[in-house]
Amino acid sequence: MEGSALTSLELDSQATTVDAVVIGAGPGGIATSVALKRAGVKSFLILERESKIGGVWRDNTYPGAACDVPSFLYSFSFEMNTQWSKVFAPQAEIRDYLERCVEKYGLRRHILCDTEVVRLGFDETTSRWIVTTATGKVIKTSVVLTAVGQLNRPAVPKLSGIETFSGPHFHSARWDHHVELEGKSVAVIGAGASAIQVVPHVAKIAARLTVFQRSPPWVMPKPDRAYSDSEKWRFKWLPLLARASRAKLYWSYERGHDKVIAGTKLNKAMEVTARAIIAKIKDPALRKTVTPDYPLGCKRILLSNEWYPALAQDNVKVTAEGIERVTPTAIVTKDGGKHPVDAIIYCTGFKSTEFLLPMEIVGRDNKRLHDIWKDGAEAYRGSSVPGFPNLFMIYGPNTTVPSSAIFMIECQVNYVIKFVKRILRDELVFEVKREPMRRFNEMIQHRAQRYAWMSSCNNWFKSASGKLVNNWPSPTLKFFLLTRVLDAQNYQITRQSE
Ligand SMILES: Cc1cc2nc3c(=O)[nH]c(=O)nc-3n(C[C@H](O)[C@H](O)[C@H](O)COP(=O)(O)OP(=O)(O)OC[C@H]3O[C@@H](n4cnc5c(N)ncnc54)[C@H](O)[C@@H]3O)c2cc1C
Repeated sequence: MEGSALTSLELDSQATTVDAVVIGAGPGGIATSVALKRAGVKSFLILERESKIGGVWRDNTYPGAACDVPSFLYSFSFEMNTQWSKVFAPQAEIRDYLERCVEKYGLRRHILCDTEVVRLGFDETTSRWIVTTATGKVIKTSVVLTAVGQLNRPAVPKLSGIETFSGPHFHSARWDHHVELEGKSVAVIGAGASAIQVVPHVAKIAARLTVFQRSPPWVMPKPDRAYSDSEKWRFKWLPLLARASRAKLYWSYERGHDKVIAGTKLNKAMEVTARAIIAKIKDPALRKTVTPDYPLGCKRILLSNEWYPALAQDNVKVTAEGIERVTPTAIVTKDGGKHPVDAIIYCTGFKSTEFLLPMEIVGRDNKRLHDIWKDGAEAYRGSSVPGFPNLFMIYGPNTTVPSSAIFMIECQVNYVIKFVKRILRDELVFEVKREPMRRFNEMIQHRAQRYAWMSSCNNWFKSASGKLVNNWPSPTLKFFLLTRVLDAQNYQITRQSE
C-alpha cells in the first residue's frame, strides 16, 4: 500500500502489508499518526474499534462531560486551538477539535473504523507483526504503535438482581440519550470523576436522585469561566499570547506537582482548603458522608463548584451503604434500606489497569504479554517491553499524570517516532533490553512510595497487587527529558530478516 486509502473490501481480499499500524484513533492515535506523516511515512493504517474517531471524547457524551485540565494545556502543541469557549472545554468541543485534526493532517484516508484488533503476533522469520482484526482480516507490518488508551473499557459492577430491573441502566461512557430522566427517580452509582460532572445535571431534572457512594472524593474549586470574545480575538491574532497562556498553565501544573506527594506543604494545604469547603455544608449528616477518610491525592483530586451544592439539594440523597441487590423497581442497600428508582446510571469508571486487553499479544518465543504482566503492567518509558520488538505503546503503563495526558502522549510520540524512522529507513528491529527495563521499573515503584496514590484508598492507578501501573511518579518535565533522545544503547538492534 503506497499512501492510498485501503477499503475494508480490499482488506478482506488480501493479507495487506503496511509499514506501520496504529491501533486506536483517540488523542494518542491521532498524535502518533500526525508524527508518522511528518516523518514521511506513507504506508500506515490506523485501526479503530468504533465507527468514529475521538477515543474517550467520542464515548463520554454524558451531560456535563468536560475536561478537568485547562484546554490550552489539554490539546496538541502542534495544533493550538485559540477558540476554546471555556477554560475547561466541554466534551463536544474536544471531540470536534480531534475531528478537525484528523481532517487537517490528512489522516482520514488512513483510518479504518469498525476494525477492532484482537491479536498481535510477532513472526520471527520475517520480523513482522501479524495484526488480526475481529473480522479475521490480517495485516502484516514492521511496526505496531498501540494507542488504545487506559480509560475506554467501562467497568460495570455485577449487581445481584440487576437482570430483574425493569428500567433503563447504562454506564456514563455509554449514555443512553433516549432515556428521559426528567421527573424520574434516578440512581447514580459512584462518586468519582464522571459522577461529579453528571450529578449536578441530573439533580436539576430528576424528581429524586440517589447517589450510591463507595468512597467520597476530595474536591477543589474549578477555576472555570468562559473566554470573552475579545480574549478569543487576541488569542487568534496574537498567537504568542496563546502559547504564553499554555506555557503558564504548564508551569503552574508542574509547580503544583507536590499536591500528590504525601505530606508535602502543598498537599496538606490543599486538604485544609478542601475540608473548609466541606465544612460549609449545612447538613451534618451529609458533611460526614462526603468527608473522605483517606489522604488528599490518593484518588484523582476532582474539580467542581457544583458537586456539593447538588448533593445538598432537597431532591438529592447520598448513601454510603453498600448495595446489596437490585429489585425490579429499587436498589436495596446493606442496611436494609429500599431506594425506589426508575433508572440506574453507572459512574463506576473503567478497567484502567488492564492495559491492552482484550487483545492477545504474542511476542518472541510465543510469550504472551499478559502472562508477563500477570502482576501488573509495566513498560520501559511507558513504551516498550523485552520480547516484543518493534511494538511501542502510546499512553502505556505509568504515563497518567495529575496534569495533561496529551502532554505525556506527545512526549511518548516524540520518543517512539525516532525508532520508527530508524526501523523503516534501515530495516531494523529494536527490542528493549531486560536490564534497563528492570532498572526503570524499579525506579518507578521506588519513587511511587512518596506519593499519596499509594496510601489507603482504592484508586484506578494501582493493580490488584498494589503496584503502581497507571501513574507517572515524577513531574512531567522528567518524562519530557527522558523521551527526548533515542537511547539506542538500551535496545538490542538487529536487522529485519526479510
Ligand atoms: C470522561 C473522561 C475525561 C477525561 N478527562 C481528562 C482530562 O481532562 N485530562 C486528561 O489529561 N485526561 C483526561 N482523561 C483521560 C483520557 O483517557 C486521556 O486524556 C486520553 O483520552 C488518552 O488518549 P488515548 O488516545 O490514549 O486513549 P482513548 O481516548 O481511550 O482512545 C483509545 C482509542 O482506541 C480504540 N481502541 C481500543 N482498543 C482497540 C482495539 N483493540 N482495536 C482498535 N481500536 C481500539 C478506542 O475505541 C479509542 O477510540 C479523561 C478520560 C475520561 C474517560
